[in-house]
Amino acid sequence: MELWRTPDAFRRACDEARRRGARVGLVPTMGALHRGHQTLVTEARKRADFVVATVFVNPTQFGPNEDLARYPRDLDGDAKKSDEAGADGVFAPSPEDMYPPGDETRVRVGRTAEGLCGVHRPGHFEGVATVVAKLFALTGPCVALFGRKDYQQLKVIERMARDLLLPVEVVGVPTVREPDGLAMSSRNRYLSAEDRDKARRIPMALTAASRAFASGERGAGELARIAREIVAEVASSIDYVDVADPDTVRVLGAGERAGERALLALALRLGGARLIDNVVLGEDPPPVAG
Ligand code: AMP
Repeated sequence: MELWRTPDAFRRACDEARRRGARVGLVPTMGALHRGHQTLVTEARKRADFVVATVFVNPTQFGPNEDLARYPRDLDGDAKKSDEAGADGVFAPSPEDMYPPGDETRVRVGRTAEGLCGVHRPGHFEGVATVVAKLFALTGPCVALFGRKDYQQLKVIERMARDLLLPVEVVGVPTVREPDGLAMSSRNRYLSAEDRDKARRIPMALTAASRAFASGERGAGELARIAREIVAEVASSIDYVDVADPDTVRVLGAGERAGERALLALALRLGGARLIDNVVLGEDPPPVAG
């Protein structure tokens, strides 16, 4: 397994792989890798011959009061986990290399980024789109894999790739969950044992809404209410529990009806962690089996 520390070395490796006739698979991450990230690498292997993971805690996607400074960092562990999952190499650049001196250019995102997390994390998706555009520029033509755990992010990036005519096929991968249904996340390590126990309510809430949807409930307000009620008892605070169009991410008003597919997404705080999760009703299996 290779480790590239500079954009030039990484670009050269991707160019060489394509020259040999390989299809390149890209898995962008912020590190602190877990089985969710490893699944992205495994999925990349199925679609590409040369698979690279990137590890970069991107400063521009964090707000001033967010967890940039304490975000977990473990490059040695990440390299091992990437290797185990079948990556050919890891690109781990420095902030100075990704944001050269005098840096001022950003990707302006649009309506897809406005609702849900866009309301609560101003500038977040602009930061995400900007760093992903840079990673796409360095990698060149490739297939890039993103988790549906960050569903709005996936849609913002799909939109960006289409709008900017980028030579990248964007693929969404289903959320990998713990046995009790909690979505794997690097931020789960912020949870105390007690809060980890409470976090089970999140997949339970999404499952209750999935069941109501399967029984015919289509009211956006009612679907959100069902999920909100279940997490409200344990959350320190709730940023949102919303129903949205799964393609455009437009949030539905409480009086609107969902279609045959609907995104139910939530973000909440549990102790020191801000957790997000979602399910596409009518498409994804309920997070809690049985
Ligand atoms: P992160 O490092 O958390 O920003 O995530 C890097 C990539 O891994 C993103 O595309 C995420 O959507 C994806 N990802 C994170 N957690 C999961 C999960 N539990 N299942 C599937 N993909 C995930």
